Amino acid sequence: MRKPVMAGNWKMHKTAAETTRFFQDFAAKIAGSSHCEIVICPSFVNLPAAADAARSTSIEIGAQDLFWLKEGAYTGEVSAPMLAAIGCRWVIVGHSERRQYFGETDETVFKKTVAALDAGLKPIVCVGERLEEREAGATESVLAGQCVGGIAGLTPDRFARIIVAYEPVWAIGTGKTATPQIAADAHRFLRGELGKKFGAEAAAACRILYGGSVKPDNIKGLMAQPEIDGALVGGASLDPASFAAIVNF
Ligand code: PEP
Repeated sequence: MRKPVMAGNWKMHKTAAETTRFFQDFAAKIAGSSHCEIVICPSFVNLPAAADAARSTSIEIGAQDLFWLKEGAYTGEVSAPMLAAIGCRWVIVGHSERRQYFGETDETVFKKTVAALDAGLKPIVCVGERLEEREAGATESVLAGQCVGGIAGLTPDRFARIIVAYEPVWAIGTGKTATPQIAADAHRFLRGELGKKFGAEAAAACRILYGGSVKPDNIKGLMAQPEIDGALVGGASLDPASFAAIVNF
């Protein structure tokens, strides 16, 4: 039984005061919701405010990125142990915006995933094809390549602790959600690829989230697919009422 995860990726939005206000409102709306794990990923600077506000709620806090070394002369970077020390439990790795704008590769995704796991964080490892790749019929080869480069090198023990997010790049922030069928097909393909490396049982236990323009009005259809184990939500996670409606689908 895979417990669903509903994770909000706030990207570069909200101040510390806005973060605190969000939690006051949101926590009341999800107080009785134990059917899924609820994660909010604010920007680095707002992690302490979020961790504070989430205390005595069931909401867990995640970061949007990390660096793979523990410490050193890496100006501007934040390490996994630093995140764990301020109460972070999750971290997004390899988001398509990091791949597109900040040179993230499957190799850095792999290193960051290992670093996160070694610090006790749960990495949400993002994969997904771009529009031109889908249109060229290359979706499966892109996803397979991202699995090989970013995930397949993990030990079985480490693999058992990751969460995968399928985020077709053409659906992120565009309002174009993948249909439940498109998403489920991609999830099934990914699980098959992971099964080739880690075995069917381990792959069957891995939670695969869908991300890409998830909204209160499309979450039900997505979650009706047995292959979809939750959502990674950008824009719609910024508003307490809309993210609560997604969590309580
Ligand atoms: C995301 O940032 O991971 C995402 C899926 O964004 P949105 O929900 O806004 O498409």
